Amino acid sequence: MHEFSIAYGIVRELECVASQHKARRIMSVTLQIGQLSGVDPEALRLAFPLAARGTIAECAKLRLKKTPAVLKCHKCGRSSRAAGQTFVAVCAHCAETDVQIIAGTELLILKAELETAEDKT
Ligand SMILES: [Zn+2]
Repeated sequence: MHEFSIAYGIVRELECVASQHKARRIMSVTLQIGQLSGVDPEALRLAFPLAARGTIAECAKLRLKKTPAVLKCHKCGRSSRAAGQTFVAVCAHCAETDVQIIAGTELLILKAELETAEDKT
């Protein structure tokens, strides 16, 4: 399950952000997962707490924001969203298959809520 290595990578990035902001704890993290990122959100949900165990992100709430794939058509020039669970690289407007994927392959940390020392009085 490669979601484990992805989860470890996310935790490492969070630790980096947390130390930059002198945070004590990470409260929550929001990830953007593109439809074509190859990441199984449910598997990542299971892997994250294991990867975060013993780190500053141990108690972080994981929020996942799934984003659909977006195609840009080389024939009509319009962009369309790939509908449904199964990805088909076809333009929704003119059914052209000569399309370019312009979004949906990303895996990003959108937001991380940090608790800093100053927060607690
Ligand atoms: Zn088209």
